[in-house]
Amino acid sequence: MQLSLSHLKKSFELTQRSGWGVERKFVHAVSDVSLDIREGESFGIVGESGSGKSTLARLILGLEQPTEGGITLGGRDVAGLTGKARRDYWKQVQIIFQDPFSSLNPRMRIGEILAEPIRNYGVATGDLTERVERLLKLVGLAPTASNRYPHELSGGQRQRVAIAAALAVEPRIILADEAVSALDVSVQAQIINLLSDLKQQFGLTYIFITHDLNLSVYFCDRIAVLYLGQIMEICSSDALLERPVHPYTQALISAVPAVDPAKRKNRTRLTGEIPSPIDPPKGCPFHPRCALAIAQCSETRPELVDIGNGHRAACHVVTQNVLQTAATT
Ligand code: SF4
Repeated sequence: MQLSLSHLKKSFELTQRSGWGVERKFVHAVSDVSLDIREGESFGIVGESGSGKSTLARLILGLEQPTEGGITLGGRDVAGLTGKARRDYWKQVQIIFQDPFSSLNPRMRIGEILAEPIRNYGVATGDLTERVERLLKLVGLAPTASNRYPHELSGGQRQRVAIAAALAVEPRIILADEAVSALDVSVQAQIINLLSDLKQQFGLTYIFITHDLNLSVYFCDRIAVLYLGQIMEICSSDALLERPVHPYTQALISAVPAVDPAKRKNRTRLTGEIPSPIDPPKGCPFHPRCALAIAQCSETRPELVDIGNGHRAACHVVTQNVLQTAATT
């Protein structure tokens, strides 16, 4: 089942008291995002802090309502669902958070934590204890973990429990929001391998939200690079690593530590901070930090243009180059 976001926008209103009364401002967290997440793929959404990726996750889950635009699952509109319809949607789309400690009830034993969604969503068939044990086994934990409390487990074990809790309702899509960011590198690798195995086993679709470009390239089939609530580039992970075309993506890739001294020398340095989403720059949101910016960049927002094989980028210079190449061939 394909999950589609269409011209999705989310703004939050801020009110501030000033000498002139109350001032209203808007934080433009997500700005005109359109993308399709195909069934069975691992789709990465990569961005710096402040890029809007967490708001996008909350919109996909229905925890925030879009200001404009829509979300469909298998062609069915899912933005703005309430009550039973929203619960049915959550049965298909589950989330794993960055910090399992805050998502697991500290007063409940692991067995109770896993039994709760099975009971609430009515997916239990057969013995509940057996089903909990099967879930623990699926994520590589011993059945004895069932009697323990979250604080008695390591960070990696807690994240395994969070994955088991997500799997408990037999979802089709799992949204992993910085799901391994808080873990040690060796534990990260174990959890990533576990997620890959589960994908194979259950044909899951993953939406992998992260600030870690390396990790997303390793784990995902396709990646969207987000900047100030807008998509800068979407393509396969291979294309992103080998042939990134957007200046922002190139700068991100260039910032990844390289062993090769030649690569270290040719680095594109990203200067300045990501601008405020309260007053985003006109035109291309990246233009104040872009070394390739031309006059048009500060005036007109670039469209996401397909440069071939579904590789899309939102950059005036890239579009010009593509048009020039097409004209000369
Ligand atoms: Fe840079 Fe202009 Fe391309 Fe934006 S549109 S990335 S400012 S060249």
